[in-house]
Amino acid sequence: MIQPTQDQAYTKIHNTRVVLDLIREKRPLSRVEIARLTGMSSATITRIVSDLIRTGVVCETTPFSTKVGRKAILLDIVSDAALCFAVDIAPSLLRAGIVDYKGEVLCQREYAIVCREHTPQQYAKLVHKSLLELCAALPGEKEVVCAGATVIGIVDHAAGMVRFAPQLGWKEVPIAALLEEALSLPVAIHNDVDAQILGEAQSLGLDKKSVAYLSVGKGVGSSMLLDGRVVEGDSDICGEIGHTIIELQGLQCSCGRRGCLQTFIGENSVLQRARMKDPAIKSMRQLVACYHEGTPWARELIEQTATYLAVAINNLGCMHNPQTIILGGELIRSYPFLFELAQQHLGDLLYEPLRGNLQLLCTKSRGMSGILGIAQLSQERYVDQLIEDNIF
Ligand SMILES: [Zn+2]
Repeated sequence: MIQPTQDQAYTKIHNTRVVLDLIREKRPLSRVEIARLTGMSSATITRIVSDLIRTGVVCETTPFSTKVGRKAILLDIVSDAALCFAVDIAPSLLRAGIVDYKGEVLCQREYAIVCREHTPQQYAKLVHKSLLELCAALPGEKEVVCAGATVIGIVDHAAGMVRFAPQLGWKEVPIAALLEEALSLPVAIHNDVDAQILGEAQSLGLDKKSVAYLSVGKGVGSSMLLDGRVVEGDSDICGEIGHTIIELQGLQCSCGRRGCLQTFIGENSVLQRARMKDPAIKSMRQLVACYHEGTPWARELIEQTATYLAVAINNLGCMHNPQTIILGGELIRSYPFLFELAQQHLGDLLYEPLRGNLQLLCTKSRGMSGILGIAQLSQERYVDQLIEDNIF
């Protein structure tokens, strides 16, 4: 048998991924539709599809009659082909779930674990415990084949390293290797906001061509999807919009400098500003109650926060020119009226050329975007390997 050249092998793998991504995004699809959408020949599509069916990631669905009376066989993803154990690693909460290849969360749990109270090795063992609990809760005979973790901080996903995560107390931690050892599964790790954008886009039914995401909670971060890929930057720092400086003499930020965007819209800074007016304010809930009661300083502070949210949206629009910006994160999820307020302020602030060209959407992911997103990334890696092993 003549062995394919390196170029032929690369083209074959690339085309197989294109077809699989298309079926995953627009399922179910017929072979004819795939040929039309990709521009590949019918013969190529027939060969690729039979490879994907043989690999076990794609299946034919029951034929149905089209308008002209012909039976069309459609292609779909096999739900159980790549079950993923996905976790969000956050300072005081471990969120875990098992996600199938169609992006359905089959089961999930949350654990009140303070990351700083454990070494990374101990933490990996706690993650393993949650894997066992979730597997026990899985219906039927299903096998988890890959895992993924989101981490708040600077993550080198190719090396599997958390470079710097001050909120977790981690610096240069090889968390992917530690988790792989504890879980006996291949593990993908990514920055939380980079993974969340995929889950947010999935929850809103958006395609992944040109989407930006602004996450606002205790921290502030952003990410950008371009042609289905997360934009990473040279050293995975892309999207740290929370630390763009917008007021030189502003409040001190957690990064040590002054006047970062985070000090205007991050939850801790908003509360800090509230306590300058009323030292009795302990929580966002209290502040929002004062706002709704009409307390003048609370109304002013919330309006100011919404104005800076609009500033951040405008700046993201100017930097990336995305088709859509999704506003999400813990603060927006808990208080969606902030989205409405920001939208109102954006009316005055948005850069003229972006008007009419920028769609602004509020999160719909109910806090599951990290789990959904990291599952997609981990499954993609697992299935890529499966394709390489099975097709060559
Ligand atoms: Zn900062």
